[in-house]
Amino acid sequence: MQIKSQVSLAKLHYWNLKTMEFEGREIYEDQREYYRFTDSDKLVHRWVVEKGIGRKIPQGCVIHHVNHDKHDNRFENLQITTWNEHRNIHKSDKRQARIEETRKGCLVIGVVALGLIALCVVYALITSLVRKL
Ligand SMILES: [Zn+2]
Repeated sequence: MQIKSQVSLAKLHYWNLKTMEFEGREIYEDQREYYRFTDSDKLVHRWVVEKGIGRKIPQGCVIHHVNHDKHDNRFENLQITTWNEHRNIHKSDKRQARIEETRKGCLVIGVVALGLIALCVVYALITSLVRKL
């Protein structure tokens, strides 16, 4: 207990991390699922963009993962956006997700309604057969 309290939480977190290699350097996955270099703590996707464009990312810019896979740090998958543009990208994603959700809901209601109709038809057929007997 004594020893544990002297070790920072960050260090404990690091000990439990799985590290990988990226372009010959060691990387790890942070709590927000982004890859970082273990030596500098720099975000890998920002490093890839800076290497790709040959200069620092302009201040206030946010890097967006085009295919939404935070682990896909290929230069083609990274897009430099302003904070506002980035917020709008994710806002329209949420809107799209809501539309998708509604569509699924309608499909379920449709299937249930068809099922009920089918049951009614079967019930009507059976009762008319029973009456004939
Ligand atoms: Zn994004």
